[in-house]
Amino acid sequence: RTWGWSLAGELRQAAARDPGRLAVIEEDGTELTYQDLLDRAERMARSMRAGLGVQAGDRIGVLCRNHHGLVETIVAATLLGVDAVLVNTGLSAAQLLTVAEEQRLRLLVHDDEFAERVLGLPAELPRLDERAREELVAGALPGELHPPERDGRIIVLTSGTTGAPKGARRPTPSGFGPLVSIIDRIPLNTRDRVMITAPIFHTWGFAALQVCFALRATIVLQRRFDPAATLAALVHHRCDALFAVPVMLQRLLEVPAPDPRPPLKVVAVSGSALPGGLAPKFMDVYGDVLYNLYGSTEVSWASIAGPQELREAPTTAGRPPHGTRLEMLDDNGQPVANGQVGRIFVGNEMLFEGYTSGANRETRDGLLDTGDLGRLNPDGLLFVDGRADDMIVSGGENVFPSEVEDLLAQLPQVREAAVIGVPDTEYGQRLSAFLALHPNETLDPEAVREYVRHYLARFSVPRDVIFVKYLPRNATGKVLSRELRRYYG
Ligand code: ATP
Repeated sequence: RTWGWSLAGELRQAAARDPGRLAVIEEDGTELTYQDLLDRAERMARSMRAGLGVQAGDRIGVLCRNHHGLVETIVAATLLGVDAVLVNTGLSAAQLLTVAEEQRLRLLVHDDEFAERVLGLPAELPRLDERAREELVAGALPGELHPPERDGRIIVLTSGTTGAPKGARRPTPSGFGPLVSIIDRIPLNTRDRVMITAPIFHTWGFAALQVCFALRATIVLQRRFDPAATLAALVHHRCDALFAVPVMLQRLLEVPAPDPRPPLKVVAVSGSALPGGLAPKFMDVYGDVLYNLYGSTEVSWASIAGPQELREAPTTAGRPPHGTRLEMLDDNGQPVANGQVGRIFVGNEMLFEGYTSGANRETRDGLLDTGDLGRLNPDGLLFVDGRADDMIVSGGENVFPSEVEDLLAQLPQVREAAVIGVPDTEYGQRLSAFLALHPNETLDPEAVREYVRHYLARFSVPRDVIFVKYLPRNATGKVLSRELRRYYG
C-alpha cells in the first residue's frame, strides 16, 4: 500500500518537496513548516496508537476551531487509517452526546473552550484537551508509521439546518483530485498564502484545507472570525486568497476597509447563497476577486461563478467544473427546459459515500438529489433558488424566500433579511419577513410591503414584517429558519 491521495499522503509530499515552506501561521505567532506539521502529526499518531490504543478502523471526534491542532489531529487519524469525525463547534451538549453515541467515538479531541460542553459525555470516552494533545505530540515514542491497511475516512457532519446533523462519509482517496480541481477555476498558484475563515469542520472549509495542501500554500488561521482582525491579518500576512462563507463578506463590509487593501487575488465563498447585491458591493471595495461555489456536504462542490459572471449576474452560482453533471429535473425525473425551475441533481466523482447511519440520498441515473431547486439560464449559468422544503406556497402560488430576501437586502436600511412561510388560514401560507437593520435606521412595515409590491407579484409580498437585532445563524453562517419559526410559538 502507498499513502496515496489522502491528507496524510499530500502532507508527506508537501514536506518532501518543500520542507521549509510555512504551512500554518496563526494569530498568536505560531508558525509551522510543512515538515513541522508532518512531524507533529506523526508524533501524535504514534502516541495515539501506543498510548491510547487507537487503531485503524476506529473513529475519533474532533471538536476544534480553525488552528493547527485541528489539522494535525485529522492528519494523525489519516496516518493510522482512523476515521475522523469533524464536529460542528456550534453543537449543544445534548447534540454532542448524540453524535458521540451515533458515531461510536473512541476518542474526542477538543479545544479548551469546549471543556464544559464535553462534561456530559460518557466517562469512558477519553477526551484530549489542548494540553493533553500537546503532551501526546511531545511525548511520542520513536517508531515508524506505514501506510495503514485501510484509508482513514473523513466524516463531515451536515450543518443540521433541516434537522439533526448527519454524518456524511467523504470519498477518499478517489475524490481528492476532482475536489482540488477548484484550483483549475481560480487563479491561485502553488505557494500562495491563503486564509481560511470558513470553519474547517464544515465541508467547505475542509475542501479549502485540501486545496491548500495540494497547492502547498501557507495557511493563515484564526480561531474566530472577527472582521477587523481578519482584515488586519489579510494585510499583515499579505494573503493572496480568502476562503470564507458569505455572511463573513457582509461583516467585512461593515468595518472600514484598510488602506492599502490586502493584495487578494481570490475571495472564494460557499455554503449558503450569496445575498442579493453583496457580490458587486464587495467587489467595488476589494476588487474583482470574488468566486461563488455551490455545493453541499453530499456533493462537495458542483459549480463555480467567477468575478465576471458575478458582475453580470450577482447571484449566480456559475457553471459546473469539467466532469460534473448538473441537471434540473422535474417530478418525473425529466430535464426541464432552460429557464424553468427544477430540482438540482448532481453527478461527479466527489459524491459522498452515504451517511454513517446507513441511509443515503436518492439518486437517479447516477445523479444525486441535492434537495435544492434551481434554474439554468440560456448561457448555462446556474441560479439556486433554495431548498425545495423552504419553498412557500401562498394562495396556490410558489414563492422562493431567496427571491424576496435578495430584494429586501437591497434596501439601504437593511443589514440582513430572511423570509419564511407561516401557516395562514386564508392562503395556506403567508410570507413573514425578518429584518435586521443597520444601526440607527428605521423602516415602516408598510413601506417594506410597498417596495416589494413594486418589483414582485402580489403573492410575494410579506404580510408580516418583523424587526430583529440579528438573524439566528449556525456556526457555518446559515440562517436558522426553525429558530425564526419559534416567533410564532
Ligand atoms: P442539513 O442537511 O443537516 O440540513 P445543510 O444541508 O445545511 O444541513 P450543508 O451541506 O452545509 O448542510 O449545506 C448545503 C446546502 O447549502 C446546499 O444544498 C444549498 O442549499 C446551500 N448552498 C451551498 N452553497 C450555496 C451557494 N453557493 N448558493 C446557494 N446555496 C448554497
